[in-house]
Amino acid sequence: VSGEATRLSERVRVVLAPNPSPMTLEGTNTYLVGDERNVIVIDPGPDDEGHLDRVRASIGDAVVVAVFLTHWHVDHSESAEELARGVEAVVGSSRTPETGSDLPIRDGERAGGAGIFLRALHTPGHSSDHLCYLLEEERALFTGDHILGRGTTVIAHPDGDMAAYMASLERLRGLDLDRMYPGHGPVIEDPQAVLIEHVEHRKMRERHVIEALPGTPEELVARIYVDVDPVLHPVAALSVRAHLAKLASEGIATEAGGVWRRLG
Ligand SMILES: [Zn+2]
Repeated sequence: VSGEATRLSERVRVVLAPNPSPMTLEGTNTYLVGDERNVIVIDPGPDDEGHLDRVRASIGDAVVVAVFLTHWHVDHSESAEELARGVEAVVGSSRTPETGSDLPIRDGERAGGAGIFLRALHTPGHSSDHLCYLLEEERALFTGDHILGRGTTVIAHPDGDMAAYMASLERLRGLDLDRMYPGHGPVIEDPQAVLIEHVEHRKMRERHVIEALPGTPEELVARIYVDVDPVLHPVAALSVRAHLAKLASEGIATEAGGVWRRLG
């Protein structure tokens, strides 16, 4: 009955996609939420027939109420159309029908059906379209790429927005959570501690960026990420650009001719 899914709670199972990388950790977590009769699939993952077969086997005879996406990055969404068409389900996300969703889901909406519902929370930052989904019965939050099972997510300017990311973290700190189910990596059993760590980490990085000024984003990366493999510096530069955009919006830093400097 359970196919190849790993059971995580009374209502939650996970199927791991075979797309490991520095960004996706062990791979994308595809979650099945519900019971043996009805399920919602969250983030069906990359276009990989073997993975989709395992997801379908794990669905078994259950009705797929909907396929929900945390966001549209390909490692989460690529197989959504194919899975949804095959089981005659809709694809739900924050996007409108013009940009991909069958079912646009609004912030705060309780979405689903057949007794399986998830509360959507718009959490921009990693991407502008990002939703987290709250399973209220288990005080469990599906965090997509907003919070990973370990390490920190990439905030890639310009679709990634550091100020929005920080605000989204603060919003999640207001929730009473027992668990977080990330889009990549292991289950988080201490949500509040992890959220505080994330806030502190971003504040520390912001201080480092300010202290490293003036310079181009690439020069700042070389100063800040001295202990990090240079292979990862281009990714780090996207994050530094996201910090700089936040600092610019707050009147703390400014750019001229590619060089960033402190204001005042
Ligand atoms: Zn991802």
